[in-house]
This record gives sequence, structure tokens and C-alpha cells, in this order.
Amino acid sequence: SYVFQPGWTGVNERTFVAVKPDGVQRKLVGEIMWRFEKRGFKLVGLKLVQASEDLLREHYWDLRSKPFFRDLMSYMSSGPMVAMVWEGSDVVKTARKMLGETDPAASLPGTIRGDFCVEVGRNVIHGSDSVQSARKEISLWFKQNELHCWEDSSSHWIYS
Ligand code: GDP
Ligand code: MG
Repeated sequence: SYVFQPGWTGVNERTFVAVKPDGVQRKLVGEIMWRFEKRGFKLVGLKLVQASEDLLREHYWDLRSKPFFRDLMSYMSSGPMVAMVWEGSDVVKTARKMLGETDPAASLPGTIRGDFCVEVGRNVIHGSDSVQSARKEISLWFKQNELHCWEDSSSHWIYS
């Protein structure tokens, strides 16, 4: 049975997901949140953010030498994003599956990128690629007091 234990593994694993500026403009916020909620994940952080250049540079530090980096910075700062933290068993890996591939053209129908976008430069959503990245990204985008622990009343119907 489900017993709450704050931590980063098991049912308390967390991931960082963000609806990018194109996803907000295209009114995909509700649809995307609906998918995570219905899957059974728990929302523990949520805000609308206009990301600064500094935040984005830190977030995409590993890509700083890529040829598309400048375009990526301007894309990601072109409007507000919806930043979220979702919690649940194996949520990092599962969220990546729900997103689809980095390139929407390679993403299967049924995934978010496979259903709602066409090009890699406008792929509507971000999701952490590992538990370690999730941890780093959550602390980068959220203050400790912006993350909420709450008891999900349906948890007994989601976890055995
Ligand atoms: P992700 O983890 O699936 O988001 O993919 P990456 O971490 O490899 O890249 C981060 C983001 O950079 C992607 O989601 C795209 O928005 C963008 N990106 C990646 N590859 C390319 C590319 O070849 N061209 C352009 N324009 N953008 C890219
Ligand atoms: Mg990535």
C-alpha cells in the first residue's frame, strides 16, 4: 500500500515538465495537464513563467555548443511557459514516453509531440531525461516552497 515518504525514487519520483511558449500559444496547456493527471501522476508544482536568458542557458547548458542553441534560446524566451513538477512511480521515464521523440516527425501518434507538432524547433513540451536531470531542473525552476506535498485521495486506486 502507499505510504508517503519524501524522496526521489519509488512513487515519490519527480520530473520537470514544461509547456514551451508555442504550446502555450497553441492552447495545449489543458490537454497536456489532462494527460498527466489522467495517467495517475500527482501535480506538486505549477506556474506560468517567462524564462530569463540566464535560466535558459543554465537549463540547456549541455547544448550550449550546438548550432541551434541561439534559436533555441530565442524560441524558449519568446513567451511564457507553463512549468510543472509531476510525481509518481517511474514518472521520469514515463513522461518521456508520453512526450514522444525530440523530433516530432519521429514521434508516434498518441504521444504529445506525435499528436500536436511537426518540427523539432517547435516541439511544444520539455521533459527531464533522467532522475538526475529532473532533480537539477526542479531546483533550477522552482523554489522549495513552490513544491507541495499533498495526499492524493485516489492513490489507493493507482498504487497497489
Ligand atoms: P529533448 O530532451 O527531447 O527536449 O531534446 P534535447 O535535450 O536534445 O534538445 C532540447 C531542445 O532543443 C529540443 O526539445 C528542441 O526544442 C531543441 N532542438 C534539439 N535538436 C534540435 C535541432 O536539431 N534543431 C533545432 N532547431 N532545435 C533542436
Ligand atoms: Mg533534453
